Amino acid sequence: MIVVKDLHRHFGGFRAVDGTSLEIATGSITGLVGPNGAGKSTLFNVIAGVLPPTSGTVMMDGEDITGLPPHELFHKGLLRTFQIAHEFSSMTVRENLMMVPSGQSGETLWNTWFHRARIAQEERDLLKKADEVLEFLTIDHLKDERAGNLSGGQKKLLELGRTMMVDAKIVFLDEVGAGVNRTLLYTIGDAIQRLNRERGYTFCMIEHDMEFIGRLCDPVIVMAEGKVLAKGTIDEIKANEEVIEAYLGT
Ligand code: ADP
Ligand code: MG
Repeated sequence: MIVVKDLHRHFGGFRAVDGTSLEIATGSITGLVGPNGAGKSTLFNVIAGVLPPTSGTVMMDGEDITGLPPHELFHKGLLRTFQIAHEFSSMTVRENLMMVPSGQSGETLWNTWFHRARIAQEERDLLKKADEVLEFLTIDHLKDERAGNLSGGQKKLLELGRTMMVDAKIVFLDEVGAGVNRTLLYTIGDAIQRLNRERGYTFCMIEHDMEFIGRLCDPVIVMAEGKVLAKGTIDEIKANEEVIEAYLGT
């Protein structure tokens, strides 16, 4: 689905992403691991259109998507979540989900004036969709809770829920498991697996927890110093001398 070729992203003279090439297969849950500062988040930012690349290309289903802005990628079904969840804290969980889909007719004054009936219907559809998402993620009991009151793990689930409000094809997850307790980590992992199997989502996820990665991801890609060091199953990665050295060297 995604083919990254010789991608670079430099900050001044510093090469955060330094000639990365990788592929993400349709239907996979691909893991992306590597020591801190390896360039993983920067790579995600470039793929997801948050940062322009210095050079290189990103293809999606054979189409060149290099440097496209996030909203265009969003329409193509490419979404990312952030390492730090950024919910609308004073709104409820359900309202947060309803904020996601773009291109609703409620957006302009003109439409508000002339198409009240249609807007009302769209709101009902959105509400229904939001409730389905909450049920899927088993957090329907939290629907009226203010998002700011959620735990770190629940916020991560909400982020995942936001990707379900649109028809995502591929979702990039940046450390959804970081700082999340064991129970919620299982809920998140389970939601990811079900989205993959039941809804056909492809995932690429950055994660530090090797047990979590091992349970969910095949293949696993290892990055170090802006480059891809290795790719394989979790067991192959763990036995790879270069990988071990890259981790020990930091
Ligand atoms: P990872 O997610 O693998 O821990 P990052 O992609 O966040 O790594 O960062 C890779 C390197 O790029 C780090 O050394 C970081 O300090 C640097 N870096 C990231 N973003 C910027 C930026 N906006 N300006 C300058 N340096 C940056
Ligand atoms: Mg990071």
